[in-house]
Formats: sequence, structure tokens, C-alpha cells
Amino acid sequence: MDLRYSEADEAFRAELRAWLDRELPALPPAPEREDWVERRRFDTDWQRRLFDAGYAGMSWPREYGGRDASPSEQLVFLEETTRARAPYIGVNFVGVLHAGPTLIAEASDEQKAAHLPRILRGDEVWCQGFSEPAAGSDLAALRTRAVRDGDHYVVSGQKIWCSFGHVADFGELIVRTDPDAPKHRGISWLILPMDLPGIEVRPIETVLGSSEFCEVFLDEVRVPAENLVGTENDGWRITQVTFSFERGTAFVSELVDAIRLAEGLAAHPGARRYASELARVVAELDGVWSLVKRNVSRAARTGSPGDGALMIKLAYSEARQRLGDLSLKILDRGAFDLDDPEGYAEEALRVLALTIAAGTSQIQRNIISERVLGLPREPKVVAS
Ligand SMILES: Cc1cc2nc3c(=O)[nH]c(=O)nc-3n(C[C@H](O)[C@H](O)[C@H](O)COP(=O)(O)OP(=O)(O)OC[C@H]3O[C@@H](n4cnc5c(N)ncnc54)[C@H](O)[C@@H]3O)c2cc1C
Repeated sequence: MDLRYSEADEAFRAELRAWLDRELPALPPAPEREDWVERRRFDTDWQRRLFDAGYAGMSWPREYGGRDASPSEQLVFLEETTRARAPYIGVNFVGVLHAGPTLIAEASDEQKAAHLPRILRGDEVWCQGFSEPAAGSDLAALRTRAVRDGDHYVVSGQKIWCSFGHVADFGELIVRTDPDAPKHRGISWLILPMDLPGIEVRPIETVLGSSEFCEVFLDEVRVPAENLVGTENDGWRITQVTFSFERGTAFVSELVDAIRLAEGLAAHPGARRYASELARVVAELDGVWSLVKRNVSRAARTGSPGDGALMIKLAYSEARQRLGDLSLKILDRGAFDLDDPEGYAEEALRVLALTIAAGTSQIQRNIISERVLGLPREPKVVAS
């Protein structure tokens, strides 16, 4: 596929740029970081504005309210919204970037009709309930149980690190439905309404003093059986579909922002001493941007970003951390300048999480070596 920008792409860029120039000055000021009621309102209001203007769900099919944009238009959209410093996708992250795409690929017509338009309009916020205290990298070891009882699944267990769980309406929930099956086979993927009785959400504070993610306790929560996505015990396969979106396309707007930050750093006088290190990071980010183009094009052809997503997630998150370290060296005390809108010191701390979230770098390497390079499988650890 040819990913050079065409005249039509440039026309789209001009139209989008004009819309952003009109829309952004009319936005209310961004809310305080810990004012979650206002943050939800601000982020979903932005999502609604995108929807009304026809820019929500750039990659989503038209029948679900998306734009069905060409790969190059999707890239132009990311470039322009980042350049203009439009609001980040925020609390809509899970819904728009991976829950919605998973539903498009795997859900029933009724489930799609119930959720997809509402996600795109910003009427519905989603979170992800995958990880558990003893199931992170080894996610298939999850213990949260769902037992079928008539028209419901009765769910008990604990999830952890659920980003935006405290402001979400629904969750991507994976549960064990067959405790006797091999661990990857007894898992199901459910749509969890977050307001059901028996759910308790407790925010967790990060090193930045922010509470972006939560613990979610489930005590005999009755989830309607119609909320099962796909078939019972086929949830591990569907989880991989979710990951292919989460690890691939979900990081792309961050990447464009990182390239912008790196270019900003290059203009700083302190950058001279670190020119070769900075050039290396910029080259790495450029390389990842090329991988993104390849992946966006593949996703447009096949409906899923596939294995390229793993490489993007690994390469981006590690390059981004090197950029964070480098910014502290280049700016020295200036990194702590509270008036600098880039907030370099805070950014350097925030990006530490990138090599953990959505699968650690070690796990990405294991999967790439086995699935992409065809190397021998990791030996099973047998408890003594
Ligand atoms: C910012 C952030 C947001 C998150 N949001 C969500 C969310 O919304 N929903 C959700 O469900 N989860 C979320 N997570 C959780 C995330 O998916 C897990 O933290 C991640 O999968 C790692 O699991 P763990 O923390 O249990 O670490 P562990 O699995 O305990 O790993 C500990 C260390 O051991 C290494 N390790 C483990 N196994 C192997 C192996 N086989 N080979 C080599 N090294 C290994 C790991 O790489 C890591 O360095 C989030 C995490 C972060 C940081």
C-alpha cells in the first residue's frame, strides 16, 4: 500500500486543521488532574465534538458511526490533533481504542448496537478488568470465577490496575468459567456493567500522586449471560484480539507526541552535549513511526493490527523512556520548571509505566521470539 500523502489526504488535513482552529479556542479550560468528575465530563465532551464533526472512530466502520478513514487519513488525523495540542483521548481510551474494536470484531449484533454508538459519542466510558494480583504477565492464571446460574453469571474475585475504573460505565472483564480446563481454555470475556451490586472500586495512587487506576472487588456480582462476548470458554482468543488493538494502535498518538517533544528538546542549548544520544532516540522514534504506518495499513486490510503491534509497543515504550531520561540530562534543573507546559520531570516519571502497562517488555520479547521469530517456547517453570 502507498502511504505517501495524496492530494485528497492534504485536503483532509486542511479541513481538519481549519476545524481544530475553530474548535480548540472554544473549549473550557482543562480540569485539575484529580478532579475526576470534571475530567470525565471534559474528555467525553471532546469525544462528542469529534463525533459531531465526523472525526470520532477514524478507523471504525461507517455502519458503527466511524469514519472508515484510509490509513493515511488516520495518520494525518493523529499528526494534526497532536500538532494542535487537541485534548488527549483520556477516559475514552479503553472504549474507543480497544473495547470498541474488540466488540466490532467479536460481539453479537445486539451487543454492537447497544455499545458502539454510545462509545463513539462519548456517552459510555469503559475500563479493562484483565489483571489480578496474581495474574499479570501470566494473565491466564486469573482466578476470578464466573458460575452460570440461569440467565446470569455469578462473578467473584478481584481485578487490579483497572485504568479509569472509577469513572467507567462498563468493563472488559475476563473470568474463569471452566476451572477444570487447561488454564487458557477455561476463560470467558464478559461485558461488565460497573454499577452492578457487589462491585467495589478502590482507586490506587501512583508515584505522581494521581489515581488513574483502581482495584475492583467483585462479590457474587450477577452479570447477565447475554453480556458474554463470543462463546463460553473462548475468552482467551478474544483477549488476544483486544491486545492486538491495545498494543498496536492505542500507543500511536503518544508516539506522535514523543516525536514533537524530542524535536522541542533538540532546540534547547543543553542538547549540544547529548546530540548523538538525542539523534539516536529521534531515529528510533522515526523507525517506530514507519512501523506504525505499516501496521495501520495492515489493520485497514485485515481488520486487526496483528503481530506488528507487539514490536511497536516494545520499541516505542523503551525509546520513550530513553527520551525521558535524556530530557532530565539536557534540561538539568530546568526539567522541574513548573511553568513549562511540557512538564518534563513528571513525564519522565509517567513513562516508567509504559514498559509495564499492556504487557511488560520482557513479555513482549517472549511473545515476539516465539510467535514472530519462531524460536523455541519458553520452558515451563515447575514449582518444586
Ligand atoms: C499504567 C498502567 C495501567 C494499567 N492498566 C491496566 C488496566 O486498565 N487493566 C488491566 O487489567 N491491567 C492494567 N495494567 C496492568 C498490567 O497489564 C500489568 O501490570 C502487567 O501485565 C504486568 O503484570 P504484573 O504487574 O502482575 O507484573 P508481574 O507479572 O508480576 O511481573 C513482574 C516482573 O517479572 C517479569 N516477568 C514475569 N513473567 C516473566 C517471564 N515469563 N519471562 C520474563 N520476565 C517475566 C515481568 O516482565 C516484570 O518485570 C496496567 C499497568 C500499568 C503500569
